[in-house]
Amino acid sequence: MDQALLKLSPSSAGDFKSCPQLFKYRAIDGLVEPVSPAVARGSLVHAVLEHLFQEQKELRTPERADELLDALWKELREGEGGRPPSMTVEDEQQWLRSSRSLLRNYFKVEDPRVLEVTRLEWWVEYEIADLHLRGIIDRLEERPDGSWILTDYKTGRVPGENREMAAFFGLSFYALVCWRAFGVIPKEIRLVYLSDPSVLTLNPHERKLIAFERQMLALGDAIRRAVDRDDWRPRPSPLCMGCSFQAHCPAWTNTANHPSMGRLPPR
Ligand code: SF4
Repeated sequence: MDQALLKLSPSSAGDFKSCPQLFKYRAIDGLVEPVSPAVARGSLVHAVLEHLFQEQKELRTPERADELLDALWKELREGEGGRPPSMTVEDEQQWLRSSRSLLRNYFKVEDPRVLEVTRLEWWVEYEIADLHLRGIIDRLEERPDGSWILTDYKTGRVPGENREMAAFFGLSFYALVCWRAFGVIPKEIRLVYLSDPSVLTLNPHERKLIAFERQMLALGDAIRRAVDRDDWRPRPSPLCMGCSFQAHCPAWTNTANHPSMGRLPPR
């Protein structure tokens, strides 16, 4: 691979870490995936929260969130990436109820009427060596003492104790970009879980971010090697069960290993 900048977001970096074959399908081949109900729900809930924070503080209420949900869904459902093709009318009602319930849960962990938000859906980027790190931060709060708080909303399940650090991968990535691009190490990074309402927090510091940066550089090298050798190892895991590419994946082409046989291929 030439020395052109390698573009990485937290999700593409996470793809390569969890399965190089998955990274290839998405980042190299650019294959389009059908929108799943879970992905569509995540996008809608994020959009509602973004709009909610654009309201006057006193209007950031559960009732307003409900109204925004209806209005935004009306707008988004017919667009590209809106209503999942497999969704029936009954499915859609149930799905909307579950989206509403996630938003109700949001109000159990935060009161948006008291939060001072500086940025929403904030595009950030930074180049380091031959890597271009970039992505969108859900929310930035800048406290009166100048400290930064980064928040990411999660509509999936809360990770178990042994997966907590891994769950902070995306926000650590953004903390590094904030530090390198703006000279500010965020004081706190926060994961706001909406399905089982809870908040996980972490305080980044320089030593950790330096180690994370090294990890990103090593990841960049590994991706370039994979490109040069056209060597994309599938890494079967329970994630395969939700992978859009399973039917095409070399790890599953052996019919004896097909998911219908109920077991994963050997690693
Ligand atoms: S099916 Fe599994 S091994 Fe294959 S690309 Fe998807 S995640 Fe990777």
